[in-house]
Amino acid sequence: MPDPKIVLDRATEILGRATSVVVSTGAGISQESGIPTFRDAPSALWAKYDPGELATREGFAKNPSLVWRWYAERRVMISRAEPNAGHRAIADFEALFDDFVVITQNIDDLHRRAGTKRLVEIHGNIFRYKCFEMNHAVEISPHDNRSPPRCHCGSLIRPDVVWFGEMLPETGIEEAYEALDHCDAILVVGTSGTVHPAAGFSSVAKEHGASIVEVNPEETPLSPMCEVSLRDAAATAVPMLLAGC
Ligand code: NAD
Repeated sequence: MPDPKIVLDRATEILGRATSVVVSTGAGISQESGIPTFRDAPSALWAKYDPGELATREGFAKNPSLVWRWYAERRVMISRAEPNAGHRAIADFEALFDDFVVITQNIDDLHRRAGTKRLVEIHGNIFRYKCFEMNHAVEISPHDNRSPPRCHCGSLIRPDVVWFGEMLPETGIEEAYEALDHCDAILVVGTSGTVHPAAGFSSVAKEHGASIVEVNPEETPLSPMCEVSLRDAAATAVPMLLAGC
């Protein structure tokens, strides 16, 4: 087990000499805000239903009220959560670099609520809505949580999140790859590195010469390609990194 002080120093050295930084986050960054990760979730979130019924176009077409209610329940749970010290430290990092982008797989809005300005949400945002047929962006508030309302075009309204089998938002993905192509360092926080394309972000950045720093209490498939892996929770490790930069 490497000395944690040496590991932290190496990580702050990498970030300290970078001018262009990408932070890539997954469900683990929000775990200490009380939002279960994908791995924790079966106990609580997905327990009663098959994800294919809740997070696919086919599932929504078959039972829109069930999907609507499930997301409404998640939205209530997420809106009670607060950004943690990890989200806040990432927001504070933004002022330190000439070029800084956060790319998140999370749909929970906690990076924005923590103050991050340049944010790419590749899986959408649970607090935004669009219509099922035409993708019209729609604002609905207050609304009925039992069944989906309709768009002006007549289509049912759905959450603006990326479901299994759907394409990722084109502009977000372009911005993400543009940042990955020229960053000097990528800080990867709280992702299992198993869901694509986010799982490939580190190797794209590395191919263009970037160094990789990982924050995750567990080893991941990304760990072997990282210069440094901090084996700690995000709300502890990211503020320590910030303090050292
Ligand atoms: P994942 O659940 O597959 O992996 C979570 C990772 O976080 C694991 O490697 C785990 O070791 C690590 N982790 C757990 N606690 C941590 C902590 N306190 N600090 C740092 N790391 C911690 O999540 P993923 O890689 O993001 O991929 C799963 C998919 O699930 C994504 O597509 C994401 O959109 C979705 N998801 C999002 C949310 C959210 O919006 N908060 C929650 C659950 C799932």
